[in-house]
Amino acid sequence: MRKIHLLIIDPQNDFCDLPEDYLPHDPVNNKKSSPALPVAGAHADMQRLARLIDRTGTGIADISITLDSHHRLDIAHPGFWYTAERQAVTPFTQISAAEVRAGKYLPRDPQALPRTLGYLDALESAGRYQLMVWPVHCEIGNWGQNVHADLRAAYNRWEDATQRIVTKLSKGANPWTEHYSAVMAEVPDAEDPDTQLNQGFIDMLAAADQVLIAGEAGSHCVKASTEHIVENLGAHHAHKLTLITDCISPVGGFDAQYQGFLRDMQAQGVRLAQSADVLPELLANIPADTNISYSACSPHTPDNKNNETHSTQPAGK
Ligand SMILES: [Zn+2]
Repeated sequence: MRKIHLLIIDPQNDFCDLPEDYLPHDPVNNKKSSPALPVAGAHADMQRLARLIDRTGTGIADISITLDSHHRLDIAHPGFWYTAERQAVTPFTQISAAEVRAGKYLPRDPQALPRTLGYLDALESAGRYQLMVWPVHCEIGNWGQNVHADLRAAYNRWEDATQRIVTKLSKGANPWTEHYSAVMAEVPDAEDPDTQLNQGFIDMLAAADQVLIAGEAGSHCVKASTEHIVENLGAHHAHKLTLITDCISPVGGFDAQYQGFLRDMQAQGVRLAQSADVLPELLANIPADTNISYSACSPHTPDNKNNETHSTQPAGK
């Protein structure tokens, strides 16, 4: 059996365009909860991925998931900032160091100004991203931080069948840096090991024969994580990586960045495939001595009777 590792980036409710019946009632405000940062296509991506896990079961040797995990107060959340007129900063505002120096945007806590400028300078000199103020999302302990229900149910069945635990990697709890990549924060904090290179994670992936990557969002956390994985595994390992492109979607308005990322990864040797392409490879990897009838464990996955894992693939993906 080949050691095929399924890595799922940030498969969380806040990133999924969930239908009404997936939204729980919030007893505090007497309304339904809603995803904070829904990515168009993510709900279908997660259902497709759940079906792939259910259909291939023990053909997958290991599964790991990353969990975006923030405090409400975070440099990339609106409550950290206000405008020169002391007004709230709306989500999806990009803020540069120059704008802060000019007083257009300021941290609400005046004492945070030096560290804020230090962060923005370091972020901009790294050249990957400009600070984006996102809606409050993946707040630790909130429903939005939880894993998509169908995906969790599918990997719970995989855990029961294989007697293996899905590895969970948390990222993003340091409020002073954005943390798109599961490998390291955008600007690592010398005093916070959780923001620095996660060598254990890289070593885990290096031990695999093949790493299948899916999750959200393709323009941000999947992109940043995969880039860092390639960089830290070394180019000679890039051929082991496969991006399952019909189980990944970009944030709206960032499609060009996503497409550029796919081209760049492909040029470095990463394979792009669809779930229907990896399905036969995983089925062929199921150990002959598997003594648990996997299909008997998985009666509840949506569209489980539908054998076409790519059947709900959105146009253009
Ligand atoms: Zn986040």
